[in-house]
Amino acid sequence: MPRAPAPADTSLDPALAPVTTLAGVGPALAEALARLGIVRVQDLWFHLPLRYEDRTRITAIRDLQPGAHAQVEGRVAAVERGFRFRPQLRVAIEDDSGATLTLRFFHFRKTQVDQLAPGTRLRCYGEVRVGHQGAEIVHPQYQRVEAAGAPVEERLTPVYPVTEGLSQKRFATLTGLALRHLPDEAALELVPVGLRGGLALPSLRAALQLVHRPPADADVAALLRGAHPAQRRLALEELLSHHLSLKRLRAQVREHRAPALRGDGRLREAFASRLPFAMTGAQQRVSVEIEADIGASSPMLRLVQGDVGSGKTVVAARAALAAIEAGHQVALMAPTELLAEQHLRNLRTWLEPLGIAPLWLAGKVQGRARRSVLEAIAGDGALVVGTHALMQEGVVFRRLGLAIIDEQHRFGVHQRLALRDKGREGDSVPHQLVLTATPIPRTLAMTAYADLDVSVIDELPPGRTPVQTVVVSAARRGEVVERIRAACAEGRQAYWVCTLIEESDLLQAQAAEVALAELTAALPGLRVGLVHGRMKAAEKAEVMQAFRNGAIALLVATTVIEVGVDVPNASLMVIENPERLGLAQLHQLRGRVGRGQVASSCVLLYQGPLSALARARLEAMRESNDGFFIAEKDLELRGPGELLGTRQTGQLAFRVADLARDADLLPEVQRIGAAMLEQHAELAERLVARWIGGATRYAGA
Ligand code: ADP
Ligand code: MG
Repeated sequence: MPRAPAPADTSLDPALAPVTTLAGVGPALAEALARLGIVRVQDLWFHLPLRYEDRTRITAIRDLQPGAHAQVEGRVAAVERGFRFRPQLRVAIEDDSGATLTLRFFHFRKTQVDQLAPGTRLRCYGEVRVGHQGAEIVHPQYQRVEAAGAPVEERLTPVYPVTEGLSQKRFATLTGLALRHLPDEAALELVPVGLRGGLALPSLRAALQLVHRPPADADVAALLRGAHPAQRRLALEELLSHHLSLKRLRAQVREHRAPALRGDGRLREAFASRLPFAMTGAQQRVSVEIEADIGASSPMLRLVQGDVGSGKTVVAARAALAAIEAGHQVALMAPTELLAEQHLRNLRTWLEPLGIAPLWLAGKVQGRARRSVLEAIAGDGALVVGTHALMQEGVVFRRLGLAIIDEQHRFGVHQRLALRDKGREGDSVPHQLVLTATPIPRTLAMTAYADLDVSVIDELPPGRTPVQTVVVSAARRGEVVERIRAACAEGRQAYWVCTLIEESDLLQAQAAEVALAELTAALPGLRVGLVHGRMKAAEKAEVMQAFRNGAIALLVATTVIEVGVDVPNASLMVIENPERLGLAQLHQLRGRVGRGQVASSCVLLYQGPLSALARARLEAMRESNDGFFIAEKDLELRGPGELLGTRQTGQLAFRVADLARDADLLPEVQRIGAAMLEQHAELAERLVARWIGGATRYAGA
């Protein structure tokens, strides 16, 4: 793609004019808007509602559905102030359906309490949950109404992502002003109509009008799902702009050079001959792909996808040896210390006999030890394993030829680039190998990782017995504990996974500490350990070591064990509140068992009642052990976009698009993207600037 054109003349295009040209936008407001990335008038058009609140109708309390947002009206029947873990206010309201709803507040003022006297008529809005006393809404928005029959809203209420000092109301006014500057269709469209002809979606202009100001007769259900044609039209543009920006990133990377790593194969042969198993066909194929890439003088950017347990580590080790044979250094970075340490252990076992001593660098390596590692990295150290610490200042490689990053989705594009830049020498950058266990359907991978080549390890090592998964209600907890006792009595080990650390009656999640106490009491004579994210790294490592060598029989853990932990003797896993996790995450967790010869099982211990969707998701887990099947199912069930785990990293923080929901648009995105790069490079550039705000997000590629 050619370089960005010179900035357009803003005096001619009101869309590109600064927001301060809008009535009533002074410096303070402009600053608040800038925090949201809104600088130009057109940025307001594309700052889209996060969701909509439907206050166009009132739901009878009797008909409330857990998990849904609803507007309710009723009279205050009782008010109670109490203290349960922390101060709280409970207000019971009652409507003509005869049912009662609890409003629960954890932050409240005295004046608020005074306004909620019994008999007061309230109209409330919020998310309905099932609490101890039946339906409840925590911290509802509410207002007092004088009498029944007060008018409801005529339009859906958009809710925008805003920042402190900027109310929803104010923001809605601003979007109204900005929309007046929308040019006519011909001027607004950047995606040539000929390219999107087949999609039957509204024009961009109509789409923007609709999402900011949904009329009374808009398809409310579709809008709330994000599936309205107007939203799909915008999603198409947004996905296209991301796709194009990744393509550009890739083109820029390709302009660099990289050292051609062609070793004599001696280390790789020695490694293979010492391995206690033969590499699977898939491992070999992927290794060949990698070795072809790094043997060339343009930088490799390859993603290796392989289901949990498919043996990615061996593939990574082989790639590392190829680079070392060629006289270059290798860095392997993992997202958690737990995982990095495990890699270190594996690599020590495999490489020390070959005369290679892996170095270790994590945040806790300090003082003299740190200095000596840094010296080795700047000197003749061949391989260093570590965490984010590898990207810190002061880490200077002598000759980094290959950067390997495990569990990609925990890191953003930026971090990947940061590690690569550690090895930059003028125009030359290291090769990059990215490993991920998150199975991503192909179309999705091509968009989410448009800057990477993808290899798939689509075969598990032989001799694995598939994990049996059962879905069990928390009411049968006692039986599950019995099952653990029986398994451990046979010398096997088990995991008990809790989904939250802190007790929270709000979410009804069992705290790991509570589970530990309870399980210790229920299983006398069994050694139970605990590992969670708040523990110090050294404590965590100690517990994991004890579990690995069998001193601990049952490990109570939070999702910190989600990625990569490998203890083959552990053959039973209980996951509490699995309904709270995405399918991809559940699959990752379950991958911790079924690594040895014995038959393994996974118990999904859910807290009822389950929504139909939650039930279908757990059913998918029971049905299959295949990560790709589960990923496809996740898409089909329109899971909450967790597939890529990108919400945390912000790597792909979309405004409207949702890779899972809008997956069917992806082939179109690829087709249109290719055509635009070919025939309309300038429009492509403007499209990226419109949605991603110039080059800032992926700067420095
Ligand atoms: P993941 O792809 O989940 O990172 P690992 O690399 O941790 O998987 O491998 C899982 C387990 O399988 C490890 O104990 C590893 O030693 C073993 N393994 C890897 N490749 C093979 C193979 N070809 N045959 C048998 N066992 C293998
Ligand atoms: Mg792994």
